[in-house]
Formats: sequence, C-alpha cells, structure tokens
Amino acid sequence: MSVLCVQTTVENLQPIKVGGIFYQDFQFFQVPASSPHDVESLCMVDNVVYYHLLGTFPNFPEPIPPNRGEKCYNIQPVLNRGLGLVASRNIEPGEIIVTERPVLVLPVNIPFPRFRSRPITVLWNRLSEKQSSTTDFRKGIIDTNALGLQFFSAPELDNRYAGIFPEISRCNHSCTPNAIYNFDPSHLAFHLTANKTIAQGDEITIAYIEPLFPRTFRRTGFAGYHFFCTCPSCSLPEDKSLRSDALRTLIHDWVDPTVDIDGWEAHYDNTIRHTISNYGSKDSRIKAASISLTSPSTTPTDLRSVIHSGKQYYELCKSEDVHTDYIYHALERVALAYALLGEEDQFQDWGRRARIELRVLGFIAVGKSILTDEEWGKALESPTRFIDSGMKNVLK
Ligand SMILES: [Zn+2]
Repeated sequence: MSVLCVQTTVENLQPIKVGGIFYQDFQFFQVPASSPHDVESLCMVDNVVYYHLLGTFPNFPEPIPPNRGEKCYNIQPVLNRGLGLVASRNIEPGEIIVTERPVLVLPVNIPFPRFRSRPITVLWNRLSEKQSSTTDFRKGIIDTNALGLQFFSAPELDNRYAGIFPEISRCNHSCTPNAIYNFDPSHLAFHLTANKTIAQGDEITIAYIEPLFPRTFRRTGFAGYHFFCTCPSCSLPEDKSLRSDALRTLIHDWVDPTVDIDGWEAHYDNTIRHTISNYGSKDSRIKAASISLTSPSTTPTDLRSVIHSGKQYYELCKSEDVHTDYIYHALERVALAYALLGEEDQFQDWGRRARIELRVLGFIAVGKSILTDEEWGKALESPTRFIDSGMKNVLK
C-alpha cells in the first residue's frame, strides 16, 4: 500500500515556534482504507515524523489486520458521560477490542487562529457533519476527542501528534481503566486492548492522563478535557484519597532511583508512612529488581527476594486496581525465579499471570520480554521439561 501525497508542504503556514515545534515543512498525506471495515486517514505531520514512519517501517502503512471474531462492544449512551463503549460480551484480558486508524492526525498545540487555515479545514472536513463548525467548536472536539500518539519506535516524538478515531475516541476516561490503547506506527493504527476481564454490560474505559498521578494533579489535567472525574479513586473521601495517592506514587516510582521517596513520604501521616514501609525500602526494591536471574553468583535467597518484591508490586497494583507495563516484567521474573528454584506449581501459577500480561502489552512487548507468547505456551504445558532443560535456551 502506498501513501498518497496530497501536498508536501503546507505553504500558508509560516514557520513559527509553538511548544518547541516549528510549524513548517509539513507533510500532508492521505492513507487509503486497507479494507471495507477501515477508514481513510488524513495526516498532517512534520518531516521528522514523516521520514521516521517511512524509514523505520518499510511497508508503512501496513494493512489493518481484521478484528478477530464479532465486534465485542456497542457505542451507546452511558449515565452522565454522553456516549461510551459498552462490552456486548465478556472480554478477556489481553484481548484486542478493536484496531482502528485515525480519521485525522494533527499536531497538538496548533496555534489557535490556524484552526481555520486551509490545510486544517481540508483535514477537518473529514468529519462531515462538522464542516461548518466554528474554530471554538473544532478546538473543543480536538481537546475532548483526540488521543496523543506515542511512538514506541521513537519516544522523543511522543505527544507531538494526536489522532481522532471513529470509535476509540468514544472511550471515556477512568483512573482505574479496564483497557489500554497503543499507537502502532507501522499500521498507523491504535490497538485498544483489555487489561483485565471486562464483563458484558461494563463500560470500556481508558486513561486520558496518567492514573498514577495524585488526585490533585489528575484533576488539573482533566481541566483540559472539560471534565470532572468521578471514578472510584477520584470519589474517595479525603483521608482514603491521600492513602490512594501514596500507593499510586509508590507504584509509579517503585524502582525509579531518581525519585526522592523520603521527600514525598513526608507529605503523609504516620499511618500512611507505615503502610508504605511494608513494601520495604527503595534500596531493597531496586536491589531485588537488579538481581540477575542467570548469574552464577545468584543464590536461592536472591531468587526469593525477586519473588517477594515482584509479588508485592503485583498485589499493590491489584489493590489500587491499576495496570502498568512494569507488571509483566515483575511477573516474568517471579515465574522464572520459581522455575530456577524448581517449584513447578508456583512457576505455572505465576507464569499464567505473566502470559496474560504479555498479551495485554501486545506488540509493544517485542524485544522487552524474555519469553515470547509461544515460549510461554510450551513452558506452561510442559513445566518439568522447561525447568530441566528448556530454560537454558531462553535465559541466555
Ligand atoms: Zn478518576
């Protein structure tokens, strides 16, 4: 599939600097739909992004794979939240709910007057019913519907662009979301993936902003979405909210050596500090995270501390009902440490959890996991064989 260049330079945008980006030399291109179920995308990106996409992904944009099985959600009114996505059947963790191309890709921080400039209008007309809309209305739609593009292939490009998606953009926010979305630049698409079991009738939610930030920070961030969050975490009474803030900060900073934990702990009372101290010192967590599973000098005691720390992290995330990318890493180490200790049942138990988390991460786990989904399948099917011999092949 080829990229059809409509116009290579947006001439009527003068080079001006906003938010660190020069608005000049834009590529304005159209990506045709790859199937009848797909949409055509119109994109406005700078040369850095354009040549990154073409240079990194030789087949850009790859056709969207067909969604597996029947559609598992409906778009319908949700109490006090306008329209939302509601599960029409039970959805398993790791299941891709939908893969979708954006209708529009636009730079974030578009200078306000330029919302009426010709290129933006051409892009905007993709949203047919909005053709005569006002600048304020356009800005409002972008503020409330656009989702930031994160480039796993080039994190320095994160959040410079946003996409408007026909259905994923209808997902409402929660600070305890049951789905995550990842931008897959090779397909110019978002994958919406369940991060926990979603029961039929439940609303499918994502996080517009980092759910691990304290409530006050989250509320400031929501202001940009013209929205006041009433999720279970945001609705807690003040004392319980402070405890939740502390635990979420602990999850966020679990093994980050740059964060001064004593500094933020000082904000909390003794009860909360006592709770935090149950998770050990920062040094002990960092030490457990840095233990090599394969070094000849690693002792069974070391493996036990990998297990202890990994389980603590997992339980902490469960208690706050949040999901992080680090969960997979922690669970993988717990399961493999059990395998190294020869504890087959525990390896299977924790390995199954790890495999589910690997599926939740999907394509962004490539290169970051020790075992692939297929290797997990074989290991969990024949744990004795894996423990006795196969491990040597995967734990290089
Ligand atoms: Zn909330």
